[in-house]
Amino acid sequence: MLVSAAEMLKKAKAGHYAVGQFNINNLEWTKAILLTAQECNSPVILGVSEGAGKYMGGYKTVVGMVKGMIECLNITVPVAIHLDHGSYDHCYKCLEAGFSSIMFDGSHYPIEENVAKTTELVAKAHAMGVSIEAEVGSIGGEEDGVVGMGECADPAECKKIADLGVDFLAAGIGNIHGKYPANWAGLSFETLDAIQQLTGELPLVLHGGTGIPAEMIKKAISLGVAKINVNTECQLAFAAATREYIEAGKDQQGKGYDPRKLLAPGFEAIKATVKEKMELFGSVGQA
Ligand SMILES: [Zn+2]
Repeated sequence: MLVSAAEMLKKAKAGHYAVGQFNINNLEWTKAILLTAQECNSPVILGVSEGAGKYMGGYKTVVGMVKGMIECLNITVPVAIHLDHGSYDHCYKCLEAGFSSIMFDGSHYPIEENVAKTTELVAKAHAMGVSIEAEVGSIGGEEDGVVGMGECADPAECKKIADLGVDFLAAGIGNIHGKYPANWAGLSFETLDAIQQLTGELPLVLHGGTGIPAEMIKKAISLGVAKINVNTECQLAFAAATREYIEAGKDQQGKGYDPRKLLAPGFEAIKATVKEKMELFGSVGQA
């Protein structure tokens, strides 16, 4: 069932586990993630970046596809459709299109402007029963063209944004998007701890979940992280499985060129990755 992400993340924080946000790119991605969530009896958040929304034919197409699958595949676990790193304008577009959750990434604005825009969007989203995530401190790596350095957020600024009534908060703690470089310094648990002490019950979000060692993920959850974003890892798994199929010449055997056959190994690889993450995050059986 399609729900906002507010309740599922409150429950996750109280239960000391995290819900995965898995970004979708097309029908195969969406179906693989929804079926795995159902099989694992886990709540799930489908992340949609602005670029992916455009690629899939617009936000209304995304909402129609997800709602159709929830009904036709009998998906009964809680599912949220969430705008990932939304700009001010796109937050409004997604609210209109029927998303159940949005992220306003105002981290590149001066703090006063981030506060003003976040305040406005919190009121608008909540009036529609939609949850909202905000970001403080830029998260490193590339976010749809915006490149950050992997800095740590100022806990006092986090408290200021948390007090605006956002449902969950993303804060930079040394994490970055995409693959981690070999010389990565790791997560700053000191920063995370300081943020949680000031923001209390508020579920915290860890972006750039690909390649963070399992022990660090578990420690982050113990310090208040209740939502972990996974994107690159599913892409790598899909690409590797598809490459293997093509390199083995299977597309040239029988009807191996049929897209339903050609994309099947990648589909299964996404399912396996999502299952592995749900187990690591502790959300299995929590729907
Ligand atoms: Zn992110």
